[in-house]
Amino acid sequence: MRATMRLHALARRATSGTVPANRSNNVAFIGLGRMGYEMATNLWKKKFTDNNSGELIVCDARQEVAMRFVEETSGKNASFVKTPREAVLSAGTIITMLPSSPHVLSVYEGFSEGIIPALKELSAEEAQKTLCIDSTTCHVSTSQELSQILGEVQVNIVDAPVSGGVSGAKAGTLSFLVGGPENSFALAVPFLNLMGKRVIHCGPSGSGLAAKICNNMVLGVQQAVVAEAMLLGQRLGLDPKVLARVINSSTGRCWASEVNNPVKDAVEVPEGQAGPPAQRKYEGGFAASLMLKACDRLFVLVSPLAKVTFKDMGLATGSGKILNVPLPLGKKAEEVYAEMLKTKPELANRDFSSVYKYLEEL
Ligand code: NAD
Repeated sequence: MRATMRLHALARRATSGTVPANRSNNVAFIGLGRMGYEMATNLWKKKFTDNNSGELIVCDARQEVAMRFVEETSGKNASFVKTPREAVLSAGTIITMLPSSPHVLSVYEGFSEGIIPALKELSAEEAQKTLCIDSTTCHVSTSQELSQILGEVQVNIVDAPVSGGVSGAKAGTLSFLVGGPENSFALAVPFLNLMGKRVIHCGPSGSGLAAKICNNMVLGVQQAVVAEAMLLGQRLGLDPKVLARVINSSTGRCWASEVNNPVKDAVEVPEGQAGPPAQRKYEGGFAASLMLKACDRLFVLVSPLAKVTFKDMGLATGSGKILNVPLPLGKKAEEVYAEMLKTKPELANRDFSSVYKYLEEL
């Protein structure tokens, strides 16, 4: 009973199609996962704590998470809604941070509760004031198709996937790789600057995602090879701390060896910092399953646009196949992660640096 009362107190009222006069000042954030929660927190801290002219409205399929977010802000200029439709009716800027293409399509199209049907409920003038920013890492074609649909009703949309991981999301130091027309990019920059420190315009719709999947193919290969090297070194008798120090001051140095080293205690963790996920049994970080694929058959069935459900490595190798680009290392690394998730499904939600654990136990 008490929980229900609390829910009602934190939930946004006026969700029956009424559009608030200050809709343009409000921002909605949909998808409060590992990344989204931190990004929304920065957005709220930097935009809504000293300002009473707008509100941050959050939404997640796990309602309890959205509720926790609002509780943590003490409800100051923050509330939650239950559906993307309510988010659109309440806010002029909609940011989405979801697992992959099927989730993005579901949130945008979603029968009567999605973003696109909700935009149609608004007057043309109100709808055209809307800016959509999708930060999900998904298929380039998903973003291009959505941009075409929204373009027809003159709604701005950019793809703005991120690089920098959960630590970057928390510190507000993400890099945003943005695709979309110049005018939409210009509208998105002030919001992205509140959650990151670099915003790069990569070209037309889908370009941010194209850049992102190329980067993540490099990352996937590097994380796997760093795990191999750390394992080999130890089997050759090296202390992992010494090996990490050598790699990190030599030509093998990369984010995977330095920031996300897969061996517990191999790198020194500055006081007050959490260190790599290896320090916490690979909890947090970038889920291994997100490196490979996020397949949700239900979404694929209900959405005519849901064609590809692969995640980062699969998005890259899939594009390579379509475009006839040879990706021998990318494909090999994809196979390593696929084998890892098959033999050790319990690692699916752990950081992808747990590929080390998989190799160690082979
Ligand atoms: P996550 O799985 O932790 O979070 C996704 C969130 O979306 C969850 O809270 C889930 O409940 C919510 N969600 C799913 N379907 C929904 C729906 N229909 N309506 C509303 N909410 C819904 O994922 P994450 O790690 O935060 O990653 C999000 C995106 O960012 C992914 O595309 C990922 O590839 C990308 N990314 C992640 C990292 C990382 O280190 N975790 C780094 C860079 C980019």
